[in-house]
Amino acid sequence: MVQSNISPVSEQEHLSSILSSEQSSPFTYCSLPQIPEREFDPSVNPNRANLIQFLDKKWVNGTILHYYFFDQTNDTEKNIVRQAFGIWKQVGIGLEFKEVNSPDEAEIRIGFVRGDGHWSYVGRDVLSVGRDDRTMNFGWDLTQSPNGIDTAVHEIGHTLGFPHEHQNPNAGIVWDEEAVYAALAAPPNNWDRQRTYHNIIRKINPDTVQGSNWDRDSVMHYPFPAGLILEPSQYRNGLKPAPGLSERDKTWVKTFYPALSDDDDTELKPFESLRLRIAPGEQMNFRLQPNVTRYYDIRTFGISDTVMVLFEEVNGELRYLSADDDSGQDYNASIRVRLFQGRRYILRIRLYYSDRAGETSVMMW
Ligand SMILES: [Zn+2]
Repeated sequence: MVQSNISPVSEQEHLSSILSSEQSSPFTYCSLPQIPEREFDPSVNPNRANLIQFLDKKWVNGTILHYYFFDQTNDTEKNIVRQAFGIWKQVGIGLEFKEVNSPDEAEIRIGFVRGDGHWSYVGRDVLSVGRDDRTMNFGWDLTQSPNGIDTAVHEIGHTLGFPHEHQNPNAGIVWDEEAVYAALAAPPNNWDRQRTYHNIIRKINPDTVQGSNWDRDSVMHYPFPAGLILEPSQYRNGLKPAPGLSERDKTWVKTFYPALSDDDDTELKPFESLRLRIAPGEQMNFRLQPNVTRYYDIRTFGISDTVMVLFEEVNGELRYLSADDDSGQDYNASIRVRLFQGRRYILRIRLYYSDRAGETSVMMW
């Protein structure tokens, strides 16, 4: 009889791995700010709520995200973060990243406050943070960690709207919960139970995860030492995601933020209604070139949920002007804004949901 090489971890081995993990976890973890889950009006049907939650935190594609460092001296660590922005951009996405010298111009404001952990707000939640405050922090020296670059890529992944992959309900991870709480309570993380629950044990809403499969190599997945995962049993001795972005990370970031070209813009003229021939999650881009300087109204029509963002082209760069998001509401997204003759504007509309396919349109007047 042939003996299988794969034997279940013995009780003894299991116990000793818990004991060692109780002393500490070798990994420093990211701890997300705790934002209450979005609640919907009872009139919003579950399908509509699912589609909204899938896209809720994502930026409209084509947004230029400006980032600012509070610490203006720490160039070695800042270079790691700059490099990490480049790693996302190199995938070939439609978002742009630009470093700026003033926190007032930055959507992303980055600190290196020691003792405050690694964290970032998720996606458009960064817009709710006060202009003087950080939206991202690196609590341990990135230059002291062999995977410091992956930490920076991970935090930027949150800013792009991606959640923790180890909390994917499709992962099927069964935790040794008390071992997890004990390992995280020890240095270097020093987390209380609530924080450990929020960032590890809790399964996140399936509508906010990408795809139906678990990606154990995602850059959004934590590494875990032995003794924390009970199932799948092959990870009882620990799980370490492969370094860098996984193939699935690249696929999903391009799904939400595909590369854009000038051909993607359709001209939207006053009093002309244009149909949004897109599926939920997709985006249309319009070019506005007013002949008269005055106030304009821009609005969507049809039973739908959209996020609509207007940018003005200033010296070849698109600057945010105004936006509206009618998701989960019973009104339509609308913007009233003064536009100037001879200037050029880009309107980006992302569809969360429409009651009938293709029956949403946009008009300016
Ligand atoms: Zn994280």
